[in-house]
Amino acid sequence: RIERIAVVGAGTMGHGIAAALAGDGRFVTVYDVDEDALDAARVAIEDAVATLVDHEGHDLEDADRVLGSIAYDSTLSTTVADADLVIEAVPEDESIKRDVLGRIERAAPPHAVIATNTSSFSITRLADALERPERFLGTHWFHPPHIVPVVEIVRGEATADGPVRAVETLLEDAGKTPVVVEKDVPGFIGNRIQSAMAREAWALLEEGVASAEDIDKAVKGTFGFRLPALGVFEKGDHSGLDVHAKVLDELLGEINRDTSPSAALTDLVDDGRYGVKTGQGVYDWSDVDVPAATEDRDRQLLSLLSVYEERE
Ligand code: NAD
Repeated sequence: RIERIAVVGAGTMGHGIAAALAGDGRFVTVYDVDEDALDAARVAIEDAVATLVDHEGHDLEDADRVLGSIAYDSTLSTTVADADLVIEAVPEDESIKRDVLGRIERAAPPHAVIATNTSSFSITRLADALERPERFLGTHWFHPPHIVPVVEIVRGEATADGPVRAVETLLEDAGKTPVVVEKDVPGFIGNRIQSAMAREAWALLEEGVASAEDIDKAVKGTFGFRLPALGVFEKGDHSGLDVHAKVLDELLGEINRDTSPSAALTDLVDDGRYGVKTGQGVYDWSDVDVPAATEDRDRQLLSLLSVYEERE
């Protein structure tokens, strides 16, 4: 049973992962190479735990109990020394990840499962950096990780069954929904499907088919509206696979098949328009109160989470 968890890299993902896993007899130690990032993570974790405890209808004492099971450490070796599971959430840079994973393995107990939160690297290839690839796997969380219910568990070619089952049980105990990705394909499940949708949305924008506002509106209010209740195959069965096959046959030759991002996107990036973090992106965020907008986003996601939990 996994009781002691170490999170290495306490940025956007690491802090939310720590908040999601702490409590109910599980202890989490959080490490970051940057002391300021570790301080920022502490504040962000307090907010995330408060959000979760409130959603579950518990009181502040529960929040204090959860926060009491989280420790912060500025040394990697002591962070992982007694961990049953170490989750690596450092930046998406293969050489940093290989170096950090090797150092984690050397300092962690031999029984520890080591997981990477990579979005895009092959688990099998990252496993080359390790002596015990059978105890290594991917846990691919989605942002914001303390709210989004599914976590993909990705097997590398050498991953043994024991670590997959142990992480599956841990995630279930923490109220998450694990989905095992049996084959280590780039992007796993969610990001592959999401990328196919994003490619088409950018192509529609570039071709002037509709404005960004209207494309977003159409996604949120049509198939996006249905998605919390109906997955792709459930929807196919409901509307009829005969109709589904006909529509795909008509459209697959029409939709975009580019193998690099649209110029509509790369032009914005070249102009430094990265979105919320630079004040300009597809939309103008310069006059928007970003913390309030983030809180509003999380409130909306939590109401969807209630629908999801009711259905599951
Ligand atoms: P981030 O940049 O917000 O956080 C990374 C943290 O790692 C930073 O705090 C940084 O100081 C720290 N760090 C850098 N080098 C380190 C080292 N050697 N040892 C320890 N800590 C170190 O990045 P993020 O968005 O949290 O992404 C982390 C991982 O999660 C990446 O692999 C990313 O692809 C993946 N991921 C991100 C998202 C997302 O939406 N942001 C979603 C799914 C997966």
